[in-house]
Amino acid sequence: MTGARVPVIGQGTWDMPESGSRLQEAKEAIRRGIELGMTHLDTAEMYGSGRVEELLGEAIAGIARERLFITTKVLPSNASYSGTIAAADRSLKRLRCEYLDLFLLHWSGSFPLEETMCAFASLVERGKTRFVGVSNFDAEAMLEAAAHLGSVPLACNQVLYNLGERAIDHRLIPLARERGIAVVAYTPFGRGRFARDRRAAGGTLERVAAKHDATARQVVLAFLTREPNLFTIPKAARIAHVEENAGAGELALDAGDIAAIETAFPRGRPGPLAML
Ligand code: NAP
Repeated sequence: MTGARVPVIGQGTWDMPESGSRLQEAKEAIRRGIELGMTHLDTAEMYGSGRVEELLGEAIAGIARERLFITTKVLPSNASYSGTIAAADRSLKRLRCEYLDLFLLHWSGSFPLEETMCAFASLVERGKTRFVGVSNFDAEAMLEAAAHLGSVPLACNQVLYNLGERAIDHRLIPLARERGIAVVAYTPFGRGRFARDRRAAGGTLERVAAKHDATARQVVLAFLTREPNLFTIPKAARIAHVEENAGAGELALDAGDIAAIETAFPRGRPGPLAML
Protein backbone atom coordinates (compact mmCIF):
# COMPACT_ATOMS: atom_id res chain seq x y z
CA MET A 1 0.00 0.00 0.00
CA THR A 2 2.85 2.41 0.82
CA GLY A 3 5.07 1.41 -2.11
CA ALA A 4 8.09 1.17 0.21
CA ARG A 5 10.43 -1.73 -0.48
CA VAL A 6 11.30 -3.53 2.76
CA PRO A 7 13.20 -6.82 3.10
CA VAL A 8 10.96 -9.58 4.39
CA ILE A 9 13.53 -10.66 6.97
CA GLY A 10 14.58 -7.82 9.24
CA GLN A 11 16.32 -7.55 12.61
CA GLY A 12 14.72 -7.25 16.04
CA THR A 13 16.53 -5.69 18.97
CA TRP A 14 14.63 -6.62 22.12
CA ASP A 15 16.99 -7.83 24.85
CA MET A 16 20.14 -6.84 22.94
CA PRO A 17 23.12 -6.78 25.33
CA GLU A 18 23.31 -3.17 26.53
CA SER A 19 26.74 -3.44 28.14
CA GLY A 20 29.53 -5.94 28.77
CA SER A 21 31.53 -8.18 26.49
CA ARG A 22 28.66 -9.11 24.16
CA LEU A 23 27.75 -5.51 23.35
CA GLN A 24 30.40 -5.18 20.63
CA GLU A 25 29.33 -8.40 18.94
CA ALA A 26 25.71 -7.27 19.07
CA LYS A 27 26.58 -4.07 17.17
CA GLU A 28 28.67 -6.01 14.68
CA ALA A 29 25.82 -8.48 14.25
CA ILE A 30 23.46 -5.63 13.32
CA ARG A 31 25.99 -4.29 10.80
CA ARG A 32 26.57 -7.76 9.37
CA GLY A 33 22.82 -8.21 9.01
CA ILE A 34 22.58 -4.92 7.13
CA GLU A 35 25.42 -6.02 4.85
CA LEU A 36 23.43 -9.18 4.12
CA GLY A 37 20.30 -7.21 3.27
CA MET A 38 18.42 -7.24 6.59
CA THR A 39 18.01 -3.48 6.53
CA HIS A 40 14.66 -3.41 8.34
CA LEU A 41 15.66 -2.63 11.93
CA ASP A 42 13.07 -2.87 14.69
CA THR A 43 13.39 -1.25 18.09
CA ALA A 44 11.29 0.59 20.71
CA GLU A 45 11.67 3.30 23.31
CA MET A 46 10.81 0.60 25.86
CA TYR A 47 13.83 -1.60 25.09
CA GLY A 48 16.39 -0.98 27.80
CA SER A 49 14.51 2.28 28.56
CA GLY A 50 16.03 3.88 25.46
CA ARG A 51 19.44 2.26 25.71
CA VAL A 52 18.73 -0.13 22.82
CA GLU A 53 17.78 2.76 20.52
CA GLU A 54 21.14 4.33 21.43
CA LEU A 55 22.95 1.06 20.72
CA LEU A 56 21.22 0.87 17.34
CA GLY A 57 22.17 4.48 16.61
CA GLU A 58 25.80 3.58 17.34
CA ALA A 59 25.62 0.41 15.21
CA ILE A 60 24.31 2.23 12.13
CA ALA A 61 26.61 5.25 12.37
CA GLY A 62 28.23 5.86 8.98
CA ILE A 63 25.72 3.75 7.03
CA ALA A 64 23.78 5.70 4.40
CA ARG A 65 20.42 6.44 5.99
CA GLU A 66 18.44 5.71 2.84
CA ARG A 67 19.66 2.10 2.87
CA LEU A 68 17.86 1.48 6.15
CA PHE A 69 14.25 1.05 7.18
CA ILE A 70 14.07 1.97 10.87
CA THR A 71 11.05 1.19 13.03
CA THR A 72 10.54 2.27 16.61
CA LYS A 73 7.57 2.34 18.96
CA VAL A 74 5.96 4.71 21.42
CA LEU A 75 4.86 3.30 24.76
CA PRO A 76 1.09 3.49 25.38
CA SER A 77 1.77 5.47 28.58
CA ASN A 78 3.37 8.20 26.43
CA ALA A 79 0.79 8.11 23.67
CA SER A 80 -1.13 11.34 24.29
CA TYR A 81 -0.93 13.82 21.40
CA SER A 82 1.97 15.80 22.82
CA GLY A 83 3.54 12.73 24.43
CA THR A 84 3.67 10.93 21.09
CA ILE A 85 5.35 13.87 19.38
CA ALA A 86 7.87 14.16 22.23
CA ALA A 87 8.55 10.40 22.18
CA ALA A 88 9.33 10.52 18.45
CA ASP A 89 11.79 13.36 19.03
CA ARG A 90 13.50 11.47 21.86
CA SER A 91 13.76 8.30 19.75
CA LEU A 92 15.19 10.26 16.81
CA LYS A 93 17.83 11.75 19.08
CA ARG A 94 18.83 8.37 20.51
CA LEU A 95 18.90 6.79 17.05
CA ARG A 96 20.85 9.81 15.72
CA CYS A 97 18.46 10.05 12.78
CA GLU A 98 16.53 12.87 11.20
CA TYR A 99 13.53 10.74 10.37
CA LEU A 100 12.01 7.36 11.17
CA ASP A 101 10.69 5.01 8.51
CA LEU A 102 7.95 3.55 10.68
CA PHE A 103 6.57 4.66 14.05
CA LEU A 104 4.26 2.27 15.91
CA LEU A 105 2.00 2.42 18.92
CA HIS A 106 3.50 -0.47 20.93
CA TRP A 107 0.15 -1.68 22.21
CA SER A 108 -3.15 0.02 22.93
CA GLY A 109 -3.35 1.90 26.21
CA SER A 110 -5.55 4.39 28.00
CA PHE A 111 -5.14 7.44 25.73
CA PRO A 112 -7.84 7.61 23.06
CA LEU A 113 -6.65 5.90 19.91
CA GLU A 114 -7.87 8.86 17.86
CA GLU A 115 -5.51 11.18 19.76
CA THR A 116 -2.45 9.00 19.12
CA MET A 117 -3.35 8.54 15.45
CA CYS A 118 -3.80 12.29 15.11
CA ALA A 119 -0.26 12.78 16.45
CA PHE A 120 0.96 10.07 14.04
CA ALA A 121 -0.61 11.87 11.08
CA SER A 122 1.06 15.09 12.18
CA LEU A 123 4.47 13.34 12.44
CA VAL A 124 4.06 12.07 8.87
CA GLU A 125 3.11 15.55 7.64
CA ARG A 126 6.14 17.04 9.37
CA GLY A 127 8.50 14.45 7.87
CA LYS A 128 9.48 12.97 11.25
CA THR A 129 8.38 9.54 10.09
CA ARG A 130 7.60 8.18 6.62
CA PHE A 131 4.97 5.70 7.83
CA VAL A 132 2.97 4.83 10.92
CA GLY A 133 1.37 1.71 12.28
CA VAL A 134 0.31 -0.25 15.34
CA SER A 135 1.48 -3.29 17.26
CA ASN A 136 -0.44 -5.95 19.18
CA PHE A 137 -3.75 -4.83 17.67
CA ASP A 138 -6.43 -7.36 16.83
CA ALA A 139 -8.28 -7.14 13.52
CA GLU A 140 -11.03 -4.78 14.73
CA ALA A 141 -8.68 -2.42 16.58
CA MET A 142 -6.40 -2.35 13.52
CA LEU A 143 -9.31 -1.16 11.35
CA GLU A 144 -10.25 1.44 13.95
CA ALA A 145 -6.69 2.80 13.94
CA ALA A 146 -6.73 2.96 10.14
CA ALA A 147 -10.02 4.86 10.19
CA HIS A 148 -8.63 7.46 12.64
CA LEU A 149 -5.65 8.09 10.34
CA GLY A 150 -7.85 9.33 7.50
CA SER A 151 -5.78 9.75 4.36
CA VAL A 152 -2.53 8.63 6.02
CA PRO A 153 -2.21 4.87 5.44
CA LEU A 154 -1.86 2.45 8.34
CA ALA A 155 1.30 0.77 7.08
CA CYS A 156 1.69 -2.09 9.50
CA ASN A 157 0.49 -4.16 12.43
CA GLN A 158 3.35 -5.85 14.28
CA VAL A 159 2.11 -8.95 16.09
CA LEU A 160 3.22 -12.17 17.75
CA TYR A 161 3.45 -14.87 15.06
CA ASN A 162 5.41 -18.09 15.13
CA LEU A 163 4.83 -21.80 14.61
CA GLY A 164 3.16 -22.14 18.00
CA GLU A 165 1.09 -18.93 17.76
CA ARG A 166 -0.89 -18.98 14.55
CA ALA A 167 -4.26 -17.51 15.60
CA ILE A 168 -3.77 -14.50 13.31
CA ASP A 169 -3.94 -16.79 10.27
CA HIS A 170 -7.71 -16.96 10.68
CA ARG A 171 -8.71 -13.33 10.31
CA LEU A 172 -6.00 -10.76 10.90
CA ILE A 173 -3.66 -11.82 8.10
CA PRO A 174 -6.35 -12.08 5.37
CA LEU A 175 -7.90 -8.77 6.46
CA ALA A 176 -4.55 -7.00 6.51
CA ARG A 177 -3.78 -8.36 3.04
CA GLU A 178 -7.12 -7.10 1.75
CA ARG A 179 -6.43 -3.64 3.22
CA GLY A 180 -2.81 -3.45 2.08
CA ILE A 181 -1.48 -3.46 5.66
CA ALA A 182 1.83 -5.24 6.28
CA VAL A 183 1.86 -7.82 9.06
CA VAL A 184 5.23 -7.94 10.80
CA ALA A 185 5.74 -11.15 12.78
CA TYR A 186 7.57 -10.64 16.05
CA THR A 187 9.19 -13.41 18.13
CA PRO A 188 9.39 -15.71 15.08
CA PHE A 189 11.36 -18.32 17.01
CA GLY A 190 9.21 -18.06 20.11
CA ARG A 191 12.43 -16.95 21.85
CA GLY A 192 13.43 -20.08 23.79
CA ARG A 193 10.63 -22.36 22.58
CA PHE A 194 12.10 -23.09 19.16
CA ALA A 195 13.73 -26.36 20.28
CA ARG A 196 10.44 -27.59 21.73
CA ASP A 197 8.48 -26.68 18.57
CA ARG A 198 11.06 -28.40 16.46
CA ARG A 199 10.88 -31.64 18.46
CA ALA A 200 7.09 -31.52 18.36
CA ALA A 201 7.18 -31.36 14.55
CA GLY A 202 8.79 -34.81 14.39
CA GLY A 203 11.40 -33.94 11.76
CA THR A 204 9.16 -31.93 9.37
CA LEU A 205 11.31 -28.81 9.52
CA GLU A 206 14.47 -30.84 8.99
CA ARG A 207 12.99 -32.65 5.97
CA VAL A 208 11.95 -29.39 4.30
CA ALA A 209 15.30 -27.84 5.19
CA ALA A 210 17.28 -30.75 3.69
CA LYS A 211 15.33 -30.50 0.44
CA HIS A 212 16.38 -26.84 0.06
CA ASP A 213 19.88 -27.18 1.52
CA ALA A 214 18.73 -24.80 4.24
CA THR A 215 18.39 -24.93 8.03
CA ALA A 216 15.28 -25.51 10.13
CA ARG A 217 15.31 -21.89 11.35
CA GLN A 218 15.52 -20.62 7.78
CA VAL A 219 12.50 -22.76 6.94
CA VAL A 220 10.58 -21.18 9.83
CA LEU A 221 11.39 -17.64 8.66
CA ALA A 222 10.46 -18.50 5.06
CA PHE A 223 7.18 -20.02 6.24
CA LEU A 224 6.26 -16.96 8.31
CA THR A 225 6.89 -14.70 5.30
CA ARG A 226 5.25 -16.97 2.70
CA GLU A 227 2.73 -14.35 1.57
CA PRO A 228 3.47 -10.92 0.13
CA ASN A 229 2.19 -8.88 3.10
CA LEU A 230 4.14 -10.90 5.71
CA PHE A 231 7.46 -9.77 7.19
CA THR A 232 9.45 -10.89 10.20
CA ILE A 233 12.10 -9.49 12.53
CA PRO A 234 14.14 -12.21 14.29
CA LYS A 235 16.50 -10.87 16.90
CA ALA A 236 20.08 -12.14 16.98
CA ALA A 237 22.95 -10.66 18.94
CA ARG A 238 25.39 -13.22 17.52
CA ILE A 239 26.92 -12.84 14.08
CA ALA A 240 26.53 -16.54 13.20
CA HIS A 241 22.82 -16.32 14.01
CA VAL A 242 22.38 -13.21 11.87
CA GLU A 243 24.11 -14.92 8.96
CA GLU A 244 21.83 -17.93 9.26
CA ASN A 245 18.69 -15.78 9.45
CA ALA A 246 19.70 -13.68 6.45
CA GLY A 247 19.92 -16.87 4.37
CA ALA A 248 16.16 -17.31 4.72
CA GLY A 249 15.58 -14.31 2.44
CA GLU A 250 16.54 -16.47 -0.55
CA LEU A 251 14.46 -19.47 0.43
CA ALA A 252 11.17 -20.02 -1.42
CA LEU A 253 9.00 -22.83 -0.07
CA ASP A 254 6.72 -24.68 -2.46
CA ALA A 255 3.08 -25.64 -1.85
CA GLY A 256 4.11 -29.11 -0.61
CA ASP A 257 6.52 -27.66 1.96
CA ILE A 258 3.88 -25.26 3.21
CA ALA A 259 1.28 -28.02 3.46
CA ALA A 260 3.72 -30.18 5.47
CA ILE A 261 4.43 -27.33 7.90
CA GLU A 262 0.70 -26.51 8.17
CA THR A 263 0.07 -30.13 9.17
CA ALA A 264 2.86 -30.17 11.74
CA PHE A 265 1.85 -26.77 13.20
CA PRO A 266 -1.90 -26.35 12.75
CA ARG A 267 -3.48 -22.93 13.21
CA GLY A 268 -5.69 -24.08 16.05
CA ARG A 269 -9.00 -22.40 16.72
CA PRO A 270 -9.62 -18.72 16.21
CA GLY A 271 -8.97 -16.90 19.49
CA PRO A 272 -7.92 -13.60 20.97
CA LEU A 273 -4.65 -12.08 19.81
CA ALA A 274 -1.76 -13.30 21.95
CA MET A 275 1.02 -10.91 22.90
CA LEU A 276 4.26 -11.02 24.87
P1 NAP B 1 12.97 -14.27 18.64
O1 NAP B 1 13.49 -13.44 17.52
O2 NAP B 1 11.92 -15.28 18.37
O3 NAP B 1 14.16 -15.02 19.39
C1 NAP B 1 15.35 -14.38 19.76
C2 NAP B 1 16.26 -15.47 20.30
O4 NAP B 1 16.58 -16.39 19.25
C3 NAP B 1 17.59 -14.92 20.80
O5 NAP B 1 17.92 -15.65 21.95
C4 NAP B 1 18.56 -15.24 19.67
O6 NAP B 1 19.88 -15.52 20.14
C5 NAP B 1 17.97 -16.53 19.15
N1 NAP B 1 18.32 -16.71 17.73
C6 NAP B 1 18.05 -15.85 16.70
N2 NAP B 1 18.51 -16.35 15.54
C7 NAP B 1 19.07 -17.56 15.84
C8 NAP B 1 19.71 -18.57 15.07
N3 NAP B 1 19.83 -18.43 13.75
N4 NAP B 1 20.17 -19.67 15.72
C9 NAP B 1 20.01 -19.82 17.06
N5 NAP B 1 19.42 -18.91 17.85
C10 NAP B 1 18.93 -17.78 17.24
O7 NAP B 1 12.39 -13.34 19.81
P2 NAP B 1 12.17 -11.80 20.08
O8 NAP B 1 13.45 -11.10 20.30
O9 NAP B 1 11.14 -11.73 21.14
O10 NAP B 1 11.44 -11.25 18.75
C11 NAP B 1 12.09 -10.61 17.70
C12 NAP B 1 11.90 -9.11 17.73
O11 NAP B 1 10.52 -8.77 17.65
C13 NAP B 1 12.32 -8.44 19.04
O12 NAP B 1 13.71 -8.40 19.19
C14 NAP B 1 11.64 -7.10 18.92
O13 NAP B 1 12.35 -6.24 18.05
C15 NAP B 1 10.30 -7.53 18.33
N6 NAP B 1 9.25 -7.73 19.37
C16 NAP B 1 8.18 -6.89 19.36
C17 NAP B 1 7.20 -7.02 20.33
C18 NAP B 1 6.02 -6.08 20.33
O14 NAP B 1 5.28 -6.07 21.32
N7 NAP B 1 5.82 -5.33 19.27
C19 NAP B 1 7.27 -8.03 21.31
C20 NAP B 1 8.37 -8.89 21.26
C21 NAP B 1 9.33 -8.75 20.29
P3 NAP B 1 21.09 -14.43 20.15
O15 NAP B 1 20.49 -13.12 20.51
O16 NAP B 1 22.02 -14.98 21.16
O17 NAP B 1 21.71 -14.40 18.77
